[in-house]
Amino acid sequence: MTQVLSALPVVDEHHVDRRRYPDGVVFMDGQYLPMSQAKISVLDWGFLHSDATYDTVHVWNGRFFRLELHLDRFFGGMERLRMKLPYDRETIESILKNCVALSGHRSAYVEMICTRGSSPTFSRDPRQAENRFIAFAVPFGSVANKEQMERGLHVAISETVRIPPNSIDPSIKNYHWLDLVKGLFDAYDMGAETALILDTKGHVAEGPGFNVFVVKDGSLRTPAFGVLPGITRRTVFDLCAEIGLSATAGDISRAEIKAADEVFITSTAGGIMPVTRIDDAAIANGHVGSITRRLMDLYWQKHDDPAWSTAVAYSVVVT
Ligand SMILES: *Cc1c(COP(=O)(O)O)cnc(C)c1O
Repeated sequence: MTQVLSALPVVDEHHVDRRRYPDGVVFMDGQYLPMSQAKISVLDWGFLHSDATYDTVHVWNGRFFRLELHLDRFFGGMERLRMKLPYDRETIESILKNCVALSGHRSAYVEMICTRGSSPTFSRDPRQAENRFIAFAVPFGSVANKEQMERGLHVAISETVRIPPNSIDPSIKNYHWLDLVKGLFDAYDMGAETALILDTKGHVAEGPGFNVFVVKDGSLRTPAFGVLPGITRRTVFDLCAEIGLSATAGDISRAEIKAADEVFITSTAGGIMPVTRIDDAAIANGHVGSITRRLMDLYWQKHDDPAWSTAVAYSVVVT
């Protein structure tokens, strides 16, 4: 069966507040809908208990970047949370492609979500819940805007400690963000643009949806403990291997990050993003560093390499 864009239900535009809904397409409950129609029950445990996992992949110039790695992480998270969906990996891959194709976006932010759902009998037993799958494609959005990409982000280190890995496995991408959101408010109070928070040992961990790297004497380091192993972080390791730079995962103290030659953050929402100021001091001379620039260039170059990316067929929607 082939479905075309016109198959999307017509929305009564008078009842849609355009400011509140990005232009995009969602798949839920077996159908493709405009974002304004993406609604779930408040009884879904994904909402009530943050009992959910998700993944975010981006599409750049009409191609998914490292989609297989994102699907691996999503399926790994569902398995560890004992969630099951009526869709296999191949079906989910085609749903994601359909959301992008139907949205028409050449550059998109694509999210897949599995929530615990709820029990049809209102049982409190999570084994009896019917898990729910939602996917959507909206315009690409970055952690850093154009100006920040050029001059580097201003980051503050909050005293907030990231939820420990023996409470919640950080390798399961999750919505337990109260620590990260608290970190953000701390950062705003300190006059910064975004935050880094700490691990249980007091070392630098990560920020709201991004990992962090330091460059010192030509070698790179990123925290190993208590962080979500990002695909962009993994991509930095792959790029470093390609160009012969040393990159390792290990503890980074607050003093070390401030004394670094270069600092950058990594996320699917923005790629590799320079940091030039931490708390009240500049990193090195306060300008975006040369290794950061080189990695940023390589990172975007890989987006049309077929070994790292997958094309979206915009005219074909298969259901
Ligand atoms: C998604 C996420 C990241 C970045 O991972 P990417 O795969 O590079 O987008 C880092 N930290 C947290 C907490 C995240 O949720």
